Amino acid sequence: MSDGSYDYIIVGAGPAGCVLANRLSANSANEVALIEAGRPDKAREIRIPAAFSKLFTTPYDWNYRTVKQAQLADRELYWPRGKTLGGSTSINAMMWVRGHQADYDAWGEQIPGWSYADVLPYFQRVEHRAGPTKVHGTTGPLFIEELRTVNPTTRAFLAACEAAGIRRLDELNEPDHSGYSLTPLTQHRGRRWSAVDAYLVPTTGRPNLTVLTSSLVERVQLQNFRAVGVSLRDASGAPRELTARREVILCAGAVNTPQLLMLSGVGDPEQLTPAGIEVKHALPGVGANLQDHLAAGLVVHCPQPVTLVAAESAGQLAKYLLRHSGMLTSNVAEAVAFVRSEPDLPAPDLELIFGAAPFVEHGRTAPPGHGITLGVVLLQPDSRGRVTLASANPTDPPLIDPGYLTAEADLTRLIAGIRTAEGLLDSEALRPFVGAPMAPWPGHVDDETLARSVREHAETLYHPVGTCRMGTDDDAVVDGELKVHGLLGLRVVDASVMPRINRGHTMAPVYMLAERAADFINA
Ligand SMILES: Cc1cc2nc3c(=O)[nH]c(=O)nc-3n(C[C@H](O)[C@H](O)[C@H](O)COP(=O)(O)OP(=O)(O)OC[C@H]3O[C@@H](n4cnc5c(N)ncnc54)[C@H](O)[C@@H]3O)c2cc1C
Repeated sequence: MSDGSYDYIIVGAGPAGCVLANRLSANSANEVALIEAGRPDKAREIRIPAAFSKLFTTPYDWNYRTVKQAQLADRELYWPRGKTLGGSTSINAMMWVRGHQADYDAWGEQIPGWSYADVLPYFQRVEHRAGPTKVHGTTGPLFIEELRTVNPTTRAFLAACEAAGIRRLDELNEPDHSGYSLTPLTQHRGRRWSAVDAYLVPTTGRPNLTVLTSSLVERVQLQNFRAVGVSLRDASGAPRELTARREVILCAGAVNTPQLLMLSGVGDPEQLTPAGIEVKHALPGVGANLQDHLAAGLVVHCPQPVTLVAAESAGQLAKYLLRHSGMLTSNVAEAVAFVRSEPDLPAPDLELIFGAAPFVEHGRTAPPGHGITLGVVLLQPDSRGRVTLASANPTDPPLIDPGYLTAEADLTRLIAGIRTAEGLLDSEALRPFVGAPMAPWPGHVDDETLARSVREHAETLYHPVGTCRMGTDDDAVVDGELKVHGLLGLRVVDASVMPRINRGHTMAPVYMLAERAADFINA
């Protein structure tokens, strides 16, 4: 039994936290604590891929809301974030999409050691790709598999992309992913394969790893510019202090990590002082540079009763239970295409995501009959936002302002993507599955009406990053080894360190970042 003192204290058991708990405790000389605010990952819906949206607004979700978005008709957008072992990998859509080579080469231009060539081996270290592959790793802990049952509407979408002259990708995670493909998924035999399955289950029985759940870390303790431990509330609500002999590693995600730093007195003095927090280390970049992928959904009725609306039927449940196949193994977003708003762009700036169901209100609204969705995602927004404290109380959610569409060019590009998507819906291949527009999608309208619809209905694709940016300049929060600038014994390893959002999805880079961090620390 530990006396509350560890070599490494890891805060947050999302993908980064689980990777580090595994890699650091692999050395039996290290004593490691992994602390998670959420409960254990026991809900049945966590394992059933098509059920992910049923976890929204439950105790497995932080259930955040943004502040009013001036450019989105003053709406406060709902932001789910996983609050359980596995973090958001226990509630997400399982899409394994690393992004474009150019994403990481751009990081590498700013921070030595982070170019595509540098990070590729770390993606591959994570991956256990079943089946033939030229680009993925095949022996890592994280299973990445094909959909086991592809919806007929998804096949029609792929055919529509082909007919439109979009490139067919042999594998989605090629260095240049311009083109279309089915989505590879973090699944094994039709079941979600979360960070817990990949990295935590294999640590079972290690005496040098302590995992605490339902324990909210409230502050990092700092002494003379060194992190020496954390204060937390344990599952019974009692306060506890843990001591870190070597490092505290924050893996609490792009919302909670900057909140925790600010609660600990690390941040912009102009924000900390009014909140009544003593400034321990001025670091104005904490919470800034917030970026997210904004998505607009084209939703239409489907005249054929073949979509995932039928996923909860008795027949599909039997298929799932007996053969681990059928509609319940779908992640809904079964295929994607990466395209450009302007042909001469060096890399795609838009993603089209095909959903074999009407995805309205985050999948929480029962649709009126069968339908399909074509989501249009802005991959490289110019808009930037910020996470700030609402108060000095650690249980108060922070203020999340993504600043959606505050850069004018973002709306123009999104509209260009919607026009491309409309062309695909109107193709010969998809036409048999496309009926009338389904609310709130207005159907084909002029640019002005379309812009209004985007402002009234666009939603997050759940990819916040960037709030503790890696870099070498004054506003950067962590250095190229993910150590917090100006402090000792403190690292940040999660989506918040990404300097710029990738042209893909954000789970894969977080796993990669954590594998790299493990090497930095173990070295
Ligand atoms: C609904 C949804 C769908 C998504 N779909 C995809 C997808 O298909 N593909 C993809 O690539 N990405 C997807 N993402 C995004 C992806 O899951 C995240 O980018 C990734 O999980 C981020 O990892 P992280 O470690 O930064 O944070 P998280 O996964 O959010 O983990 C942070 C962990 O820290 C814990 N924590 C926070 N604060 C504290 C505290 N104070 N004390 C203790 N513990 C704390 C949290 O409870 C959580 O477990 C999706 C996300 C969501 C929410």
